[in-house]
Amino acid sequence: MGTDKELSLRLLEEIKRLTAGRERPMRLMEVCGTHTVSIFRAGLRQLLPPEVELVSGPGCPVCVTPDGYMDAAIAYAGMGDVIVATFGDMLKVPGSASSLAEAAARGGDVRIVYSPLDALAIAKEHPNKKVVFLAVGFETTAPTAAAAVLAAAQESVENFFLLPAQKLVPPAIRALLADEDARIDGFLLPGHVAVVTGSETFSFLPKEYRLPGVVAGFSPTELLRGIYRLVWQAAAGEAHIENEYKSVVRPEGNPAAQTMMKQVCETCTAEWRGLGEIPSSGLRLRDAYRRFDFSAMRPLDLPPAPPKKSGCRCGEVLRGKISPRECKLFGKACAPEHAAGPCMVSAEGVCAAWHKYGGGVFRYD
Ligand code: SF4
Repeated sequence: MGTDKELSLRLLEEIKRLTAGRERPMRLMEVCGTHTVSIFRAGLRQLLPPEVELVSGPGCPVCVTPDGYMDAAIAYAGMGDVIVATFGDMLKVPGSASSLAEAAARGGDVRIVYSPLDALAIAKEHPNKKVVFLAVGFETTAPTAAAAVLAAAQESVENFFLLPAQKLVPPAIRALLADEDARIDGFLLPGHVAVVTGSETFSFLPKEYRLPGVVAGFSPTELLRGIYRLVWQAAAGEAHIENEYKSVVRPEGNPAAQTMMKQVCETCTAEWRGLGEIPSSGLRLRDAYRRFDFSAMRPLDLPPAPPKKSGCRCGEVLRGKISPRECKLFGKACAPEHAAGPCMVSAEGVCAAWHKYGGGVFRYD
């Protein structure tokens, strides 16, 4: 058995051999922000032949969260009896006119947590405050949010809430494919999401769209293996779902996590930045747990978020329509230290990855 380096070089050679002479590049989309960053950090885009084009999709949860949600979170943060608990990369995401970081600077109580269970602990420490966890994320984090709600219910914690905005990946992929200009030839499927959902969740890709999909891990070699299997399927005229992350992903996923999610949440229409409203793509709390939804407990009467005037093109970036370099603000008016859009704020954002690793060097981590 060779080293990772030897294996990676062999995979690259095979990818080049299988794609040589293609009339147009094979467009492969990764639908996971962690994949995006791993691909850039390893410099894989520079190593692949021109016949393979990697396109980033809507896989960064912060990036797809619309302005209206941020406006609501910022409004709640300005209320004296509320503590907003959030993952750190939400702090600088611009809403219509402000951000949570600015709300905190104005005196709002905004705390960074690493899990919804941390927010639950804050609620127990501060019984006189309403603690609102910003429940943003995909299938990966939804079970933990559900676990926190169940724990709060069991322990009769009355001051713990979610501001739900969790989203499901398969409906977003369908929405992308509904666009005739999408021109996507295969999907590098999200390893972390598939741990929960299982690889079979994505079987609609070959069945309905005749497109291949490969669940991949995160090391350079695992990513190259995923890309190799996609180009191999294309060259063989095949389309099916492969699981190249078998160490943690099973075809059926994690049934315990799925059961917990289903017990607490039901699907709903959700708004995605760049993709608009997608039916059955979001999660909301079921009636039995609705009292933990702060937006239901304390509804806001905010005006709809106005269209952005900054010129940010995150929506097109998230649909794989343009690369961040095609945004005229990239690297000038928009950089990580003064981001004009969420794709530059989040560590998993496509624009941030381009900015940080645009000329990435191949490394074997
Ligand atoms: S570079 Fe900045 S302004 Fe342009 S699309 Fe990305 S986040 Fe938006």
